[in-house]
Amino acid sequence: MNVLFSDTFVKSFKKLSSIKKAVKKKVDMIIEDPIALGEPLKGNFRGYYSCSVRKNFIIIYLHCSMCRKKGDDKIVTCNECNKFPDDTIKFIALGPHNNAYGIK
Ligand SMILES: [Zn+2]
Repeated sequence: MNVLFSDTFVKSFKKLSSIKKAVKKKVDMIIEDPIALGEPLKGNFRGYYSCSVRKNFIIIYLHCSMCRKKGDDKIVTCNECNKFPDDTIKFIALGPHNNAYGIK
């Protein structure tokens, strides 16, 4: 699995020191099984997946094999998607439920 972290994700991760451990654990779980754990987002965030951490926080990520499945790669803002292999996961954003969507 090819795993990438966006700058936004890394910044949020550094700020949220209180839940670092929980986030790390979740990230490992997502890497193992990105499809089972992710909840597909809709609308503007079509193609993205979310996974909650301790109910109040969410991780937003992309899984490139899914980006491509439904032609979502044309909608999803997965930068340079075609440069990466199918089994690429990109962690895009992390934050409290209401705020994490400020990714666009
Ligand atoms: Zn992609």
